[in-house]
Amino acid sequence: MTATLDSADTDYTDLIEGIAAFVKRKVVPLEEANRELLENPRLTFDEKGGYSAPVLDLMRQVREASAAAGYYAMFAPEELGGEGLGALALFCVWEGLSHLVGPGRLLPDQVIGHWTSGPSFLLGEVHPSLRDGVVQEVMSGAATVCFGMSEPDAGSDAWAMSTRAVRDGDSWVLNGTKQWTSNSAHGKYAFVWAVTDDQKRRDRTGGITLFLVPTDTPGFAVDSVLRLFEHVGGNETILSLSDVRVPDTHVVGAVDQGFALALQGVSNGRMYNAGHCVGMAKWALEEANRYTTVRTAFGNPIADYQGVSFQLADCAIEIYASKTMSVDCARRLDRGEKARKELNIVKAYTTEACFRIFDRCMQVCGGMGLTNEMRFVSGWHFARMVRIADGTGEVMRRNIANSLRKGDLGF
Ligand SMILES: Cc1cc2nc3c(=O)[nH]c(=O)nc-3n(C[C@H](O)[C@H](O)[C@H](O)COP(=O)(O)OP(=O)(O)OC[C@H]3O[C@@H](n4cnc5c(N)ncnc54)[C@H](O)[C@@H]3O)c2cc1C
Repeated sequence: MTATLDSADTDYTDLIEGIAAFVKRKVVPLEEANRELLENPRLTFDEKGGYSAPVLDLMRQVREASAAAGYYAMFAPEELGGEGLGALALFCVWEGLSHLVGPGRLLPDQVIGHWTSGPSFLLGEVHPSLRDGVVQEVMSGAATVCFGMSEPDAGSDAWAMSTRAVRDGDSWVLNGTKQWTSNSAHGKYAFVWAVTDDQKRRDRTGGITLFLVPTDTPGFAVDSVLRLFEHVGGNETILSLSDVRVPDTHVVGAVDQGFALALQGVSNGRMYNAGHCVGMAKWALEEANRYTTVRTAFGNPIADYQGVSFQLADCAIEIYASKTMSVDCARRLDRGEKARKELNIVKAYTTEACFRIFDRCMQVCGGMGLTNEMRFVSGWHFARMVRIADGTGEVMRRNIANSLRKGDLGF
């Protein structure tokens, strides 16, 4: 452990301390007992590029233990056994967990149900007949899901999706290709968005339906794992659906109304990303601050030189700005405000600031900053990635500009 948890300006301090104690008690011993497996990429991933079976088993153990301790499903609806916690809690617990563990550790990330792969508000939209099966499996951490919206020709412009679902008797038949779907090589179920009324889709008034698809359904295939940053494996895939048949009960929410559910998921994701980025950035600044006070050059600790210390000061400025804007935005969302402009600002700013912070922290640590040992590179990869996932910085600016044009100039 390299850092303490401190979200003292919120009401979630006890919860975060509970999570920290859980990580220490349950997760760290698993990490220590499986260090080679978790740190040697040739063991972490299998030959197809997905996580290897022993790693998936460790992840499941953490999820199930966390669910039993009451943490894993805290963002799922209360009627399903979750806590139904809101945006501020989402920001704070991810900030706290990321600050505590830093980048590049697979198992701690399993403690809290991730919005794309774990229990989320979407489970509340699943047909009641599936509650004892699918929903319980996901709530308990035994099974995971994935979030299949993006496609090869529909990323930023998700309305351009072309996966189709056609009704056939009591079933729906799905055909199409999804891309970038995180956890799809490992999830037991996939949330898949598909066009069910093309005219409504073109008019952007609806026409997209959400389906819950068991990934062992005939016709569902993971075609390839997408590898990023020269890693030997990855968590995102391209998957294809060829005449995938699901019953009517696997429609999630209402027919033709799935796009709103996707947007709600993505909004959750933006607050999750803000928490993750602020926590990671705090971790990085502490590491760099510690190193630069002990490393000497030209007879003095390098922190004595403004060329170094001002870079750390810039990190502090951006962390404070990131955190205060995130907390303000989360409070607005929890009050029921849409806060569209603010949420887009938060996503753009916190992810871009996190990237700059990791870059500066690497720079002030010199060659050591580039080593695997210091783990900045992992955080830098993470921060680079979240400037694109969940909506790019340019799309955030497009959305902010649209709000301004509609007259939302208040702060
Ligand atoms: C690691 C990772 C995990 C992901 N996980 C998931 C997942 O689980 N489920 C899922 O559905 N999707 C997922 N995604 C997909 C993600 O949401 C998309 O990558 C993202 O929306 C951008 O789409 P794109 O990659 O197709 O880029 P494109 O849409 O092709 O954009 C390319 C460039 O054009 C810019 N651009 C596009 N439109 C505009 C505009 N109007 N104005 C200015 N610039 C513009 C973009 O900002 C970008 O710089 C993931 C992506 C990554 C990288």
